[in-house]
Amino acid sequence: MRKFKTESRKLLDLMINSIYTNREIFLRELISNASDAVDKRYFTGLTNEAAQVDRGELAITLAFDPQARTITVSDNGIGMSRDDLERNLGTIAHSGSAEFKAAKEVAASDEAQIIGQFGVGFYSSFMVASHVRVVSRAFGSDEAWAWESDGVEGYTIEPAERAACGTDVILTVKEGDAEDGFDGFLTEWGLRDLVRRYSNYVRYPVRMEVTRT
Ligand code: ADP
Ligand code: MG
Repeated sequence: MRKFKTESRKLLDLMINSIYTNREIFLRELISNASDAVDKRYFTGLTNEAAQVDRGELAITLAFDPQARTITVSDNGIGMSRDDLERNLGTIAHSGSAEFKAAKEVAASDEAQIIGQFGVGFYSSFMVASHVRVVSRAFGSDEAWAWESDGVEGYTIEPAERAACGTDVILTVKEGDAEDGFDGFLTEWGLRDLVRRYSNYVRYPVRMEVTRT
């Protein structure tokens, strides 16, 4: 296991123990990352003929499994190499969260405000998930890798399988009582509601996979 850097641990700790009520923003953050990845994939095709892709083929897919308590956000975007997973998910080097780094000394009472202000990105998954698995294959590579963490001490990166480039972010949703509302995220309407409220502006279709039983 690789250990998180100190500033990542602080932010993760904030996420996991957050009194913050807007934990539902996790989906907005994941969809926004998926949309960025799909954009990057599209633009790669504009500068390199061999990489051309039809815009209509690019999409974001949501799936959920109430029995396994998982929510999966998938994209067929640019994907991440092993190094990308390490760099992008293991540290706070990126935009929104970098600002958090500067503000990390603030009082606990200001936590909610910080999270709301900076949009903490990928790590917000840990507001609702006890475990996160990211399976990714970078465009142009034939290798896939899985990054996994419970958001506490560190993470692992292991070889994985993926048929084509892109990323799956698989959240194992926390167990909680009715008041916590975690179970609501594991329903079709719960997810649709979040997409409608927070991700309406996304430039790519967000499709929902529903298994009718
Ligand atoms: P930000 O989006 O502000 O950069 P995030 O914490 O949301 O910060 O994401 C960190 C980084 O992880 C992104 O900048 C991107 O490089 C990478 N990343 C996250 N999700 C994906 C994805 N679905 N596909 C490709 N890269 C991703
Ligand atoms: Mg982001």
